[in-house]
Amino acid sequence: MASLSSVFTEVERTNWLKAWLAVDIAKSGLEPFVDNEAKTLHANILKAVWSSSQAPAACIGCHTANLLKCPTLGICNKRGGHGTCKSMHYNAAKQPRPCPANVCNKAHDEIVKQHTFSIPSWKNTSAQQWAKNPWEIAKAYFPPDGYAGKTSVQDTDFNGLISFMMNCKHFNNMFSFAIAVGKHNPPCLLTKAREIGRTVRHSSQCKVTDPDLRDIFTILTSLLSDPKCLSHDVTAQEALRKLAEVCGDSGLVVRFWARDRKVPGSNPAKALDFSEQKINPTLAPLHPGV
Ligand SMILES: [Zn+2]
Ligand SMILES: [Zn+2]
Repeated sequence: MASLSSVFTEVERTNWLKAWLAVDIAKSGLEPFVDNEAKTLHANILKAVWSSSQAPAACIGCHTANLLKCPTLGICNKRGGHGTCKSMHYNAAKQPRPCPANVCNKAHDEIVKQHTFSIPSWKNTSAQQWAKNPWEIAKAYFPPDGYAGKTSVQDTDFNGLISFMMNCKHFNNMFSFAIAVGKHNPPCLLTKAREIGRTVRHSSQCKVTDPDLRDIFTILTSLLSDPKCLSHDVTAQEALRKLAEVCGDSGLVVRFWARDRKVPGSNPAKALDFSEQKINPTLAPLHPGV
């Protein structure tokens, strides 16, 4: 096993540390934007539910399990026609039944309608919280499992936030690019960002090569500077500045970004050349002390 000091002396391990930090910074840069949109989505869903009622009604008596038929694909584990579901419908209080106020079933339908694949992650979300907690609805768009106890945007990991933006139709017009749907479409910036999160988290060697680190910074920088919404978001822009600091060479990150966006005046050849550091002594070295 590598020693602790190797994290600071071996280039690829230092890179991994930088990549980890970059993901953490990007996550904090996305938080206010994602949190605000979760609130807007929540308001829109409540409005849609109430639009078909005489007066705004509320219900906090239904469990998510009550609103799902059994078996529900990907959720239930009922065996045979008379078997017992040990997943969500495991006792008398958790059996499928209509919402007495005719509210939760409508909220359920609206959540499905807003899901790109119509398969919300029901295990993550508690219907009893839907009326008052926007984050509880956001969690229906996260990966299928593992987020039930997460109560806020700060509490949620990078993968959860990216999945929310990818799986919820509410975000469809909030980026300058089309969100890639399905495995057969070319990856969009969000798909690439999600992949970064996985790569960094699951790196068995805790190593990242120079070209991979460069790609990580480029993708996260491009995402946080997306001109549609995030480029106007103060926290996203602050994260961008921190990312540049972590990269160790702010000029380099900006040039990558300029190259990807074909900004006039940027030099694509220069943008990819780490040897720039040798030419211009004012630029900080990519690996200080190495
Ligand atoms: Zn079931
Ligand atoms: Zn209800």
